[in-house]
Amino acid sequence: MTAQIIDGKAFAATVREKVASHVTRLKEENGITPGLAVVLVGEDPASQVYVRSKGKMTVEVGMSSFEHKLDADVSEAELFALIDKLNADPAVHGILCQFPVPDHLDERAIVARIDPAKDVDGLSVTNAGRLAAGQAALISCTPLGSLMLLRDRLGSLSGLNAVVVGRSNLVGKPMAQLLLGDSCTVTIAHSRTKDLPDVVRRADIVVAAVGRPEMVRGEWIKEGATVIDVGINRIDAPERGEGKTRLVGDVHFQSAAAVAGAITPVPGGVGPMTIACLLANTITACCRANGLEEPEGLTV
Ligand code: NDP
Repeated sequence: MTAQIIDGKAFAATVREKVASHVTRLKEENGITPGLAVVLVGEDPASQVYVRSKGKMTVEVGMSSFEHKLDADVSEAELFALIDKLNADPAVHGILCQFPVPDHLDERAIVARIDPAKDVDGLSVTNAGRLAAGQAALISCTPLGSLMLLRDRLGSLSGLNAVVVGRSNLVGKPMAQLLLGDSCTVTIAHSRTKDLPDVVRRADIVVAAVGRPEMVRGEWIKEGATVIDVGINRIDAPERGEGKTRLVGDVHFQSAAAVAGAITPVPGGVGPMTIACLLANTITACCRANGLEEPEGLTV
């Protein structure tokens, strides 16, 4: 079998179109422009690229983008004062602080400072708890995007065996909650899991969120399974020339694609869905803040 490639780039474009058309409606019918504030502390080059690209896409869908760049040695009190200001600003519907932050700042405390109603990264204890309790939440963007891809590919997920490899608060745990919410039978695997290949082999749906290049092999995959590769790893690619690198996922694409029914590529799979879902979450937060009906298909 050769797997169907799940085109996350194309799907993300349709999500952004949906967001853009809803932004137009909110402006025309309600006089509201959804706004996303991004806080960047320090000058980490990768973070700067992410923040620029988030800002660009925010503007492209017609939302307001507020970028706040703070010096690497900013105090916690100064950062919290900014977050408090954004929490109180009615033009700001979503707030995210780009991680990692310098060591003297505590990521958990930062997340806790953000109003859960504006926590578009879905990282707060309140939103994680709401998701676990089956209540309306703002959901971590990468798992939300992964679920959208799965629903698009498979329709109903009910009764399927799903294995999530990785148990981070950012990806693994919310992913497992979402799959459970869609009535999958869910296994969460991690670094202490015994006989991981055997566990993965039972899965109709495999979500790999490990951070280890090409760890999940084709021999681990059940024939016809749907594979969502969340991993983004940069590895050396001497075949492309000296000093060159390339991106790979947590799944060994070639061997897995020979067995799976469908698989996300890296790049071009889950990655583009993450920013699209950040925009979707900002719309959701904006509609909830204003007591307006939420658009279909942008959250669960
Ligand atoms: P974390 O490092 O926070 O979590 C990794 C998880 O993988 C942990 O639960 C860990 O287990 C588990 N793990 C590590 N080694 C093994 C192993 N040998 N066998 C089984 N499980 C293992 O990573 P994240 O969840 O933040 O990210 C995972 C991947 O997804 C990374 O490649 C990251 O770059 C990527 N990512 C991609 C995004 C996107 O937009 N596509 C967004 C966010 C992340 P334990 O808990 O036992 O240590």
